[in-house]
Amino acid sequence: MFSRSRRNLARWFTLSMGSVLVIFAGIVYYLEVQKQIQAFDQELYQKSKAIATGGIYRYHLRQRRLQLDTLPQLGSNPLSLGSELAYVRWYTSHGNLVQFVGVPPRKPFKRTPEFETIKPGNTATPNVWLRQLTLPVLRRNRLVGYLQVATPLTPMQQRLDQLRLLLALSVPVSLGVIGLTGWFLGGLAMRPIRQSYEGLQRFTADASHELRAPLAVILSNAQVGLLTPGGDSSQQRQRLENIAVTAKSMSVLVNNLLFLARHEGLLSPKVLAVVDLVQLLRELVNNQAQMSVQQLTYDLPEQAVLVRAEPDLLRQALFNLLDNACKYTPAAGTIQVRLLTQARCAVIQVIDDGVGIPAADLPHIFERFYRVDVARSRSTGGFGLGLAIAQQIVQAHGGQITATSTVDKGSTFQIELPL
Ligand code: ADP
Repeated sequence: MFSRSRRNLARWFTLSMGSVLVIFAGIVYYLEVQKQIQAFDQELYQKSKAIATGGIYRYHLRQRRLQLDTLPQLGSNPLSLGSELAYVRWYTSHGNLVQFVGVPPRKPFKRTPEFETIKPGNTATPNVWLRQLTLPVLRRNRLVGYLQVATPLTPMQQRLDQLRLLLALSVPVSLGVIGLTGWFLGGLAMRPIRQSYEGLQRFTADASHELRAPLAVILSNAQVGLLTPGGDSSQQRQRLENIAVTAKSMSVLVNNLLFLARHEGLLSPKVLAVVDLVQLLRELVNNQAQMSVQQLTYDLPEQAVLVRAEPDLLRQALFNLLDNACKYTPAAGTIQVRLLTQARCAVIQVIDDGVGIPAADLPHIFERFYRVDVARSRSTGGFGLGLAIAQQIVQAHGGQITATSTVDKGSTFQIELPL
């Protein structure tokens, strides 16, 4: 599934970027052709102008007439053309051909357009395209005739061929690079999705696994009870109690799972209220002290420490830490709750001198369903979700939770909340 999505991402990336690239190459080519033609036309115009203005005018029958023989190129039968011209033709003002050198015209004279690209076809080199300029020659505002000059487009074609070759090679190479980049970026984009998908799969598998055991207990108690309907009433009662206890623990688990599913991401500011941490912690520790055998103390500032929080959620997170401290600390141990303020955050510490957590397990204890000692956790009713829930709540408040611990010496859980 992920490789297919990655392939699709790479394919679409290549297609979209490739289209942009091909369009871009087309525009570059078009602009270059325009530029070359402009430069070519300019040169042809200059040459034609030099020919048109190079002739001598003499008086003939009281009229000034251009002596065609005196025109450069056209005059002296010169198409030994080192001049790069294919032909030079002179037409009268009525469009009659008077003189030419090079290729004779095949079609009747046309006055427009001035510049034209033509394929003569009847020359020695029929595949050569020509650029032709038909220039009206004026003398004292009177049309004297038309000069038609053509030059092969070969040098420009060669330059454009080179450009086409360059584009034809570089576009597929770039497409290849784009494809590889798309594949790489697709991999990067898929990574977090894959991780969260795997996390979700693991979570579902763990949750199913955790629910299977209590369900089996309920089922076996119910089945045995049904097989012996009129049996010992105290045994029947014991079975019903087993079912009730197991169902209760299942309900806790299901509630925890629902909680984790519902409270993903940062909390909306609308649900936040100003909470005095001093008061909240004092209440919590006092309540917990009534239920626990360990000695619970607190070290809280005199004045209120106010944070913006969802009070019930924050209470739940702190309760989970206190509950753990009580579960994993011997009866003779002590548990201390401290609150201090730093420049930008309030720091809450829950310190116990209990069993501690091995260094290898410490990086994993906030993972869902992670338990250091499964047997001990089960015996205390833990599913390995308490710390995951605490972490999710703290992160939803924009804070962070950390733990330090030494085996047999105790653990410190610290929550930092933005002030
Ligand atoms: P559980 O419900 O099993 O306690 P938690 O998520 O609350 O799950 O804790 C995960 C594991 O971290 C526990 O199984 C326990 O081994 C360890 N742990 C948590 N708090 C403490 C503590 N204060 N002292 C020692 N171990 C702890």
